[in-house]
Amino acid sequence: MNAVINYFSEIIGGFKTLLQGMGITGKHFIRARKEIITQQYPDNRDTLTFEDRYRAQVYMEHDENNEHRCDACQTCEIACPNGSIEIIFDRVVDPKTGKKKKVLDKHIYHLGMCTLCNLCVLACPTNAIKMSHEFETAVYDRSELTKALNKPGSKLKE
Ligand code: SF4
Ligand code: SF4
Repeated sequence: MNAVINYFSEIIGGFKTLLQGMGITGKHFIRARKEIITQQYPDNRDTLTFEDRYRAQVYMEHDENNEHRCDACQTCEIACPNGSIEIIFDRVVDPKTGKKKKVLDKHIYHLGMCTLCNLCVLACPTNAIKMSHEFETAVYDRSELTKALNKPGSKLKE
């Protein structure tokens, strides 16, 4: 007799949990129509917003005079764990001190290798480089993922 009771109570219990599960699914189904969280990219490209901490790629800030703050110290190059940065520089005599100093030629950045770890940005003593929100980085030719971050004709800010 006990076995029969257990048998039917297990069926009833199973039916109850089935209804509970379906209730939760139904609640989310109805609510989803009011709270759509899927973003219709790329239709919403112009209205996309990002958190400040979002990291898409490294860039170098230039002001309106095409001047940057990179003094070619190579700290970012050393800090980068996978060689995504190469600093190419010249040595010129500083007219003020008469001593030779580094002058940036090209700040090479290999986006294709970059893990966006942010270590280079944190290491830079002059805040010359930052992380941008430019996330559309797909290219047909891999070589286009290697860029010079300093703009043509730019120079170090005094
Ligand atoms: S974000 Fe990280 S991996 Fe990318 S260049 Fe900077 S240090 Fe290297
Ligand atoms: S970006 Fe910053 S850390 Fe890198 S070479 Fe320039 S000044 Fe130095």
